[in-house]
Amino acid sequence: MTDCLFCKIVQKNIPAKIVHEDARTLAFDDVNPQAPVHTLVIPKKHVAAVQDCCDQGSDLLAQLLITCANVAKQKGLAESGYRIVTNTGRDAGQTVFHLHLHVLGGRHMRWPPG
Ligand code: 5GP
Ligand code: ZN
Repeated sequence: MTDCLFCKIVQKNIPAKIVHEDARTLAFDDVNPQAPVHTLVIPKKHVAAVQDCCDQGSDLLAQLLITCANVAKQKGLAESGYRIVTNTGRDAGQTVFHLHLHVLGGRHMRWPPG
């Protein structure tokens, strides 16, 4: 998608600190981190939000979660723990409409979230 920020990161037209890349997924550090580790995991193919993944097959969602787990391990969070979040739509505060999973860790997380 030409006008999508994260598609531009996939195409390497906008720089990002990439921490993982494979055929279908990309992970890069968030530009405005909310925790000592804050990495975004996205599908390379443009999908607006999680419900739009349904026709891509469940394996894409599985692959995104596997990449999150790989990122957490790479960032040293496997023992201490981490949180995976995907904001979907207005009420959840989604600001970039290319599906992304936030991997957050390196500090204690409160619950419920704000
Ligand atoms: P959302 O609010 O949609 O759940 O998350 C969007 C995330 O993308 C935010 O955490 C924001 O900091 C991050 N973000 C926005 N623009 C950029 C950018 O140009 N580069 C990177 N690395 N992250 C970005
Ligand atoms: Zn996109």
